[in-house]
Amino acid sequence: MLNLPFDPIKRAKEVEELVMEGLARKYYRFRPANYYGGIATADLVGCPFLCAYCWNYGRNLHPEMSTDKYYSPREVANRLLFIVKRKGFNKVRLSGAEPILGEQSFEHFYQVLKDIYKANPGLDFILETNGLLLGYGAGFGRRLSQFESLEVRVALKGFDEESFENISGSERRFFELPIKGLGKLIKRGINARPAIMYEMFGPEGIGKIDQRLRAYEVRPEELEIEYLEPYPFVLENLKKRFIPLHE
Ligand code: SF4
Repeated sequence: MLNLPFDPIKRAKEVEELVMEGLARKYYRFRPANYYGGIATADLVGCPFLCAYCWNYGRNLHPEMSTDKYYSPREVANRLLFIVKRKGFNKVRLSGAEPILGEQSFEHFYQVLKDIYKANPGLDFILETNGLLLGYGAGFGRRLSQFESLEVRVALKGFDEESFENISGSERRFFELPIKGLGKLIKRGINARPAIMYEMFGPEGIGKIDQRLRAYEVRPEELEIEYLEPYPFVLENLKKRFIPLHE
């Protein structure tokens, strides 16, 4: 039973132990996806947050219960490269959960990046992350800065402490870590930008997050806005947490 709100750093460590075996990580699917004009996608398991609108809520709530397989970095890279070749794509990403839970999962991700770029240096890799461990851990940004075609999209889960706690399920004192992580990447010259879900923020929330981004020298003009997939279970989870939807 997971009581809300929780400490997401502690949960990241616990989840990492469940989804990593050495440098192999649990994945549940490899697929071509239509986003970004066509992208090879590896869906992984395990996230420190438990967002009310997460489309992978069940797996992220119970990573220990999934029967999904563990894949080495080389296996993940090979499967992504196979999809790229078959579909004629030039982009790859990991999705479905959080790639960076700590040192061990970062090392897995780093090796996937290395294998991908060794085989095909012209590919764009899009890292979709909640930014928590990028703000908390040291050295991740430095190691990522060697990959010139890496794009990082940090999905922010609230516009202030209270909305962050309601949406992500994490204690409000961790609200600024993802923004801090984003700021650290930008300072290193990495192509990184913030993203938000419009229905969670509305115009007022966007105004508030603009201010917080500026404090970490992140340009609010780069904010990417995405829109909610209103799956019935997502609407139910939002209702349970009393989260209003902005139109
Ligand atoms: S950060 Fe992303 S993967 Fe993790 S719970 Fe939230 S929406 Fe799901």
